[in-house]
Amino acid sequence: MGFEKKILENKLVQDFFQRKIGEHSIQLIKLYSKGKNLTEDKLSKKIGIKVTEIRTILNKMHYLGMADYDKTRNKKTGWYNYDWRINYKRIIELMLQEQSEQLKKLEIEENTITEYSVFACKKKCDQIVFEIAVQYQFKCPSCSQNMDYINTETKSKGIKKDIKELHTTKEELLELQKVIK
Ligand SMILES: [Zn+2]
Repeated sequence: MGFEKKILENKLVQDFFQRKIGEHSIQLIKLYSKGKNLTEDKLSKKIGIKVTEIRTILNKMHYLGMADYDKTRNKKTGWYNYDWRINYKRIIELMLQEQSEQLKKLEIEENTITEYSVFACKKKCDQIVFEIAVQYQFKCPSCSQNMDYINTETKSKGIKKDIKELHTTKEELLELQKVIK
């Protein structure tokens, strides 16, 4: 096991699997990455989850292009055997994609709160720029409570910090991408 280990031991990758594919998925992929030909039954016993759960994980990954399989038929039993391959390139690609979407969202939000005066009700249902808030006569469109001007300086600082972190994440992912053979 070479670069696979480096990728699967990475905290960002592990978080991504947990979020996107679900619990136990990273455990399953680690077993696959060791290249032993494990049957679903054996995997199920090793991880302690049902065979159907293993299939769910693999199907989710297949749907996202993170895994692919070769289907062969056992001549004796007539059953199909699935040989799964993990697409590490695709995993990092999806992570970079997600990260870039988050970044875009944050940059838009950052831009909005620094460029415009923002209004919101006490419950903060929504943040509404001045021009629109006027049209609603400063009543929250969701809950009809009064909307006040909100000081966005703290929030803006928070967003800037998040943006910086996302850039660091991106660097880390690009480094990981380089080790994939
Ligand atoms: Zn409201």
